[in-house]
Amino acid sequence: VFTAATVAAAPEDPLFGLMKAYREDPSDKKVDLGIGAYRDNNAKPWILPVVKKADNAIHNDPNLNHEYLSIGGLADFTSAAQKLIVGADSAAIKDKRICSLQTISGTGAVHLGGLFLSKFHPQKPTIYLSNPTWANHNQIFTNVNLPIAKYPYFHASTKGLDFEGMMQTLTTAPEGSIILLHACAHNPTGVDPTQDQWKQIAAVMRARSHFPFFDTAYQGFASGDLARDAWAIRYFVEQGFELCVAQSFAKNFGLYGERTGAFHFVSAPGPDAAASSANIASQLAILQRSEISNPPAYGARIASRVLNDPVLFAEWEDDLRTMSGRILEMRAGLRERLEKRGTPGDWSHITSQIGMFSFTGLTEAQVLTLREKWHVYMTKNGRISMAGLNTHNIDYFAEAVDSVVR
Ligand code: PMP
Repeated sequence: VFTAATVAAAPEDPLFGLMKAYREDPSDKKVDLGIGAYRDNNAKPWILPVVKKADNAIHNDPNLNHEYLSIGGLADFTSAAQKLIVGADSAAIKDKRICSLQTISGTGAVHLGGLFLSKFHPQKPTIYLSNPTWANHNQIFTNVNLPIAKYPYFHASTKGLDFEGMMQTLTTAPEGSIILLHACAHNPTGVDPTQDQWKQIAAVMRARSHFPFFDTAYQGFASGDLARDAWAIRYFVEQGFELCVAQSFAKNFGLYGERTGAFHFVSAPGPDAAASSANIASQLAILQRSEISNPPAYGARIASRVLNDPVLFAEWEDDLRTMSGRILEMRAGLRERLEKRGTPGDWSHITSQIGMFSFTGLTEAQVLTLREKWHVYMTKNGRISMAGLNTHNIDYFAEAVDSVVR
């Protein structure tokens, strides 16, 4: 029988546990490199100026109310989100073969996609996740009963992509597997395939009839260029793949707590594509209704105003360049400092990796020393959030890394 006493305690979420330890550390030297949220040069959360503007306009709108959105969310938002993914002039949009629903940020989009595939895929195939991947992928796909496997991704000695290992697994995985791909700024490694490697990945996936499931949580945040960061997804769509995309606006709009995201399903081109897409939309709506009824309005209203107004859109692109530019400066600055000190090892991966995170190669023991002796907080796998570095703490962090590596 079920009683309260039959439930054992769950382990603490490692990332949220780390955040708590940081908050409770009284040291004035402490450095938070754990959480994946953008910080400005004073280690403070940054409200994008364009978001503030859109927010004010919404507040002053006399027609604003707090009614429910529709099941699929704010239509102006999902259509703009769709254009951002595939490009405004994509044949997939013209052919009406993309269906899009607003979701509870990227997490909700990954979940909705997983649930949909688990229910509607006739074989319940294995979903292959990169090793390593965003830890939540494992939990989300397990919750919807999709079997999970890994494909090699991070090469420990080069601290780059294990392209051979990845291709090998894509070749030998059972035909028709689902492959989860990070569209850009891979979390946690910061390692992305090159465009040429993406083409080879697409070719083997086509040959093996694998289904691409893209997770994009950092568009515009990696290179500062929205189209460039969407290149891989757009390439797969142009190649005629049937695929799905989980899209988060948490990082690129700084709307973390507003839970703003979208799920897109792109059907392959063909005479029945628009009809299939409408069928899929109808099924997704039923799943959405049973899970969340309808998505939250506020963040979508903000993003929608910006995405649908050319002047605000241009300001958003400036804000993206501000964030990605500061991160690139911190990457260059950290590498330069370590090299100047002669810190043992090759630090070129700090600048070849991209996006919010860097897989430093620091061992778990070194990470623990950094925490205990230096009050520097990062995850045990050696991942740092570049956004936690700034001109005030970068020298201190370089000194700390140098001391634990020697
Ligand atoms: N996917 C990846 C790879 C991520 O890094 C994140 C953010 N940590 C997400 C999805 C989703 O985040 P959110 O639900 O906050 O949009």
